[in-house]
Amino acid sequence: MKVNELYIELTRRCNLKCAHCFYGDAQNADMSRETLEQIFQVYKDMDWLVAGGGEPFLNFDGVKIIIQNIMKQKIKVNNFFLATNGCCENMDKDEVIDLLLPLQNCNHTKFYLKLSDTIYHRACKSELEAEIYQSFKSKLDKYNIQYIEIKQDTEFINEGKAKANRIQPQSEQQGNFDDPNEIAACGIRDKVFKITCEGNIVAGCGHSYENAQRFIVAVLNKYELNPVQTKRSSGMKSVLPPPPSLDKMRSHSEWNEVE
Ligand code: SF4
Repeated sequence: MKVNELYIELTRRCNLKCAHCFYGDAQNADMSRETLEQIFQVYKDMDWLVAGGGEPFLNFDGVKIIIQNIMKQKIKVNNFFLATNGCCENMDKDEVIDLLLPLQNCNHTKFYLKLSDTIYHRACKSELEAEIYQSFKSKLDKYNIQYIEIKQDTEFINEGKAKANRIQPQSEQQGNFDDPNEIAACGIRDKVFKITCEGNIVAGCGHSYENAQRFIVAVLNKYELNPVQTKRSSGMKSVLPPPPSLDKMRSHSEWNEVE
């Protein structure tokens, strides 16, 4: 199956507690190796693959499996994006460098590494985490691994803790995505999907953990449901089936009724 953007939620754990986190409170959940393998049996061609979390390096094996699949060209990925806070205590920096280095010179995938260090991240880092971040950056520089460092968020998604803490964009130029229905409708229209730790396929990628449940369009092990083929691709809000219960979505026949 081909999609434009696929977001893989490697974990819902995070070592930080940023006040603007649109996911909401961290949860003790990781994506399993089996789920990752299922993903790459289904999705084999994408313009963007985004590995995220929570903090993705807390599921280091998951990051490894994704990179191995990209490097061996088992999946076609034009652009690979990895977003990290770069300050997990248990992150083995040498192992991370070994993993990322080959991506630098990869001629079939362009690699983007994003380091998030906004005021919200800095506000909740311990001294040790701040040191880890700086030494991680030094290692990246030493090995000439390019990264984009985000010091100021340009977009806020009004979900999760950002919503609870009433964090607003700082200027009119900055975006503010505050309609979950619209995020999901754009996901269907633009073929942007997120796979959660549990293997649920969600329309769009800017949902809190809580809201992601509302926009499940299929379940990974029922991949023949092929949400991308939906014909209802016009009209922002009408493209979605009514928010389903997960149990219902597990039934293939009921999905067909929706279609
Ligand atoms: S914004 Fe990122 S680093 Fe901060 S709590 Fe959320 S997932 Fe963790």
